[in-house]
Amino acid sequence: MSSYHKKSLRILKTLPTRENTCVVLGGGLAGLSAGFRLAKSDKPVVVLESDSEVGGLSRTVHHGEFSFDLGGHRFHTKNTETEQFVKDILYGNYLTVPRKSKIFLQNSFFDYPLKPSNALQGMGIPTTIRALFDYGLEKTKNLFSPPKYVSLEDWVVNNFGRTMFNLYFKEYSEKVWGIDCSRISEEWVSKRIEGLSLGVAVKNAFFKFSGQKVNSLINRFIYPPEGIGRISDNLKGEIDKDNSVLTNTRVFQVNHNNFTINSVIAKNCEQLYDVKGREFLTSIPLTNLVRMMNPSPPEYILDAASKLRYRDLVVVTIMLNRESVTDLTWMYLPGRDIPLGRIHEPKNWSASMAPEGKTHIVAEYFCFQGDSIWNQNNEDLTSLTVKHLVKLGLIKESEVFDSCVYRAPKAYPLLEVGYEKHYSQLLEYLDKFTNLHILGRTGMFKYLNMDRAIESGIETANAILSNSEWETEREALPVGA
Ligand SMILES: Cc1cc2nc3c(=O)[nH]c(=O)nc-3n(C[C@H](O)[C@H](O)[C@H](O)COP(=O)(O)OP(=O)(O)OC[C@H]3O[C@@H](n4cnc5c(N)ncnc54)[C@H](O)[C@@H]3O)c2cc1C
Repeated sequence: MSSYHKKSLRILKTLPTRENTCVVLGGGLAGLSAGFRLAKSDKPVVVLESDSEVGGLSRTVHHGEFSFDLGGHRFHTKNTETEQFVKDILYGNYLTVPRKSKIFLQNSFFDYPLKPSNALQGMGIPTTIRALFDYGLEKTKNLFSPPKYVSLEDWVVNNFGRTMFNLYFKEYSEKVWGIDCSRISEEWVSKRIEGLSLGVAVKNAFFKFSGQKVNSLINRFIYPPEGIGRISDNLKGEIDKDNSVLTNTRVFQVNHNNFTINSVIAKNCEQLYDVKGREFLTSIPLTNLVRMMNPSPPEYILDAASKLRYRDLVVVTIMLNRESVTDLTWMYLPGRDIPLGRIHEPKNWSASMAPEGKTHIVAEYFCFQGDSIWNQNNEDLTSLTVKHLVKLGLIKESEVFDSCVYRAPKAYPLLEVGYEKHYSQLLEYLDKFTNLHILGRTGMFKYLNMDRAIESGIETANAILSNSEWETEREALPVGA
């Protein structure tokens, strides 16, 4: 038994909750959407969130008069019900923002998605001919033997040719994921080319063979005037009307018996709480959940959990004494000589994100917890960011007057080649628990965007509601934490 656990036995209090409470672990979009749906169906709910604010990866940070997302978050979906859900929770108060992005390739800025004319200009005629030849070669090979895909590299080379892979996929994918493209599972690229990938743009520009509308190329998106975190803040507000969302409340132990979860132990300030419930919904990182199980899972399950990794994110925001820097939504920076991967200027998403006469640039560094970027102190990260923004010709050092560094752990589930074996072992183990429900991007270890994270929460809540015949106690929930 850990010393932490021994300490917990000394000062543990039971959190007063209503009978049959649904305990939701994690107050990101998935956990909050589930909590909201259950609360609106008169089920007792408590959401436990470790951070001081809700929203998880989709929160908006407020720094003085400035606000910024952890990497600009645009809401878009093909599901009209989910779109309506978001519009409703924003009480109709949202902007429709045009998307305009650029990519810095071979020392020049090009429109993103790439247009045939400027992609051609970027590659030059000889490279374009080579790219088309490579592509034709791959398609010819496919006629004789059906392609087998294991890695991102296999998939891209087969679908785009080696030249295109080297030009448009390799550097950026390796920057995002931190491992060689031959070790990134093809699943990521084949199921979901979007956001950080450049290939669809080039594929559409040159070959136009997909004919489908790809999510990443949609030109307008929904955005709350005060930042994407408004969706989570409003969900919390709605849940809090009759139930509770407890922030600064970190779950660190999940108690179970006979494959039934009995309670979780959570820490709020210096107080430890035993939180009992009927159903337990978890959107906290899958690997952490497994390690929190008490009694511990079998050794091979802990071993499988240790083999699944997430990619982490450091966000450095630079405040500037000038009206504006760009007119862009995002700028992608694939080059290896630039340590940051992407920037955005929040003012271009909503004018309310910065005070008049000033603006800010948000830089995303993809990294692993414990590596040199993650461990670098905030002053050095600020200097590094300013240096590269100046080098790119975007800002002058004299314009900088403030900065803010935010570290976001477990931002991307890392789909490494062979991850499926460990993943299915964890799911098989967790599936045995009768009242445990896994949801969300971090919780399910799935590359979900906001729409799918919200849907996973609503679907989980619906499944619980359809299975339950509860006698709900109607008295108010007295929570002291
Ligand atoms: C850089 C970046 C840009 C993105 N851009 C977009 C975009 O433009 N459009 C889009 O649709 N999607 C985007 N996404 C994806 C989007 O952020 C996610 O889909 C969504 O936020 C996932 O929500 P979630 O609730 O599933 O997970 P999370 O947001 O990870 O929520 C999990 C919550 O659990 C909490 N938690 C963790 N451990 C504990 C614990 N022990 N106890 C209690 N609480 C705990 C965390 O603090 C967090 O609040 C982006 C993601 C990143 C990283």
